[in-house]
Amino acid sequence: MKTSLMSGDSAHRPLRDVVRDLLSPDLDIRSKNFSGKRVLLRVDFNVPVDEATGAVTDSSRVKAVLPTIQLLLNQNARVILVSHFGRPEPKKQSRQQMQAMYSLRPVAALLEAELGSCAFRGLADDCIGSEAAAAVAQLQPGQALLLENTRFHEGDAGSSPDFARDLAALCDVFVNDAFGVVHRDQGSVTGITWFVPSCYPGPLIRRELTELADRLYDPVRPLGVALGGAKVADKIGVIAALVELADVVAVGGRMAFTLLAAKGVSVGSTQIEEGWLEPCRRMMTRAAERGTRLLLPSDVLWSSSLSRPECLDTRGVAPLTLDCCTPDRPCIPAGRYGVDIGPETMATFRQELLCCRTIFWNGPMGKFEVPEFAAGTVAIAGTLDEASKRGAVTIIGGGDSVAAVTAAGLAEHISHISTGGGATLELIEGKGMPGLRALLRPGSGGDVGRGGGSSTADGSAAGDIPAVETAKLRDGVGGGNGLGGAGLGNEDEDQIT
Ligand code: ADP
Ligand code: MG
Repeated sequence: MKTSLMSGDSAHRPLRDVVRDLLSPDLDIRSKNFSGKRVLLRVDFNVPVDEATGAVTDSSRVKAVLPTIQLLLNQNARVILVSHFGRPEPKKQSRQQMQAMYSLRPVAALLEAELGSCAFRGLADDCIGSEAAAAVAQLQPGQALLLENTRFHEGDAGSSPDFARDLAALCDVFVNDAFGVVHRDQGSVTGITWFVPSCYPGPLIRRELTELADRLYDPVRPLGVALGGAKVADKIGVIAALVELADVVAVGGRMAFTLLAAKGVSVGSTQIEEGWLEPCRRMMTRAAERGTRLLLPSDVLWSSSLSRPECLDTRGVAPLTLDCCTPDRPCIPAGRYGVDIGPETMATFRQELLCCRTIFWNGPMGKFEVPEFAAGTVAIAGTLDEASKRGAVTIIGGGDSVAAVTAAGLAEHISHISTGGGATLELIEGKGMPGLRALLRPGSGGDVGRGGGSSTADGSAAGDIPAVETAKLRDGVGGGNGLGGAGLGNEDEDQIT
């Protein structure tokens, strides 16, 4: 099992308190002066690239963090940039193979264009070891360099204390400004904080915390939520938390079919998650007890193929009421898949959400990559656009949802578009977020990993949090403590969308 670098205590403090502490003026790097210091800045340069040419196709993640880099350069800091990129496999691939596929070289070219070759000193071939150390040693105050992909080393994703210690040896100060990875317990996110005495959240993380936590922990009510996407397993923790927090929760996407199946609706060949039927039932019971309006699709679009919309003759809209949909009389015929919410559902979701003064949306309502199956997702994007123009607070998180609203040209008026997928959801759940917690206990890791394994500062054994939480969740969804839905891992952060 992967080593966890989180301590038992810090892993269980209420996330609201962690967020409040991180937003304190003391931890604001804008009020610091790191002149001459070696500042290691964890950034999210996991940008999309053109497979054929290797060129960066969307540089917004790089552009977003440029003000942070510039701020540190203006303070005359020596800035060391580190990031993961793609999914190299150090156990299977040689360094040459990884270098050919997952080098940060294209990002280095972008940085040089943006910062100029006086300030930006290029890419070091490794993120730890003698090459990295030599490159850092040559860095002058007011200069920056980029270290090669952290995931070339197993120890980053594998949370190795040795890797974290080697990375920490390069710097005096650690600043994390990669919100997309703060739900990860990894060497360059949590591990490094054990060995660096000064750790700070960067301005981008502070902005996410301000926008998300303020607006969702104490929302202007009514609070409405639209949730979609493929898997209940990815999101049941956040649905459970939102059932406790929101006034209206509208669920679409493929995961809605598992909730419908849990209610006894027959859904044809649509893939459902059998293992989650019972937790879904408990969550729906809890919503009814609390008075949360949990809305499921009342009609859906079905198709004989998930990818071939041209089969128009076998596509239709099916109403989905318990009365008409039974295994004997399935509403969606066998061999057919539910691919989007239907027109009646779109109208209901829209009507209910437009009554809300705060709306959060995560996850497409259907298999929106196929244009014919995108109407439900576009309808939700349109609803948020309209609500924004009417003065509602609107927030969107999640790679695919953000891609959908951007592609529909409806992003302009949205109050906040979050850069996090899994991280945004964990923040709302109010649990997890080891990368945030770690920033509050810098330099406390004297013995981590010595003697092999997962000992922590308090001497306790630290477990793999997501696995533990998953087990808890299966045993009982809806603990009913405000934002206390259980945390689950989510792999969104690595998807380049
Ligand atoms: P986000 O990135 O916004 O958090 P997710 O990654 O959870 O969203 O889910 C997005 C995926 O869910 C998309 O690939 C989409 O095709 C898929 N999806 C949504 N509804 C369906 C459906 N009815 N059938 C198949 N796939 C679906
Ligand atoms: Mg996604």
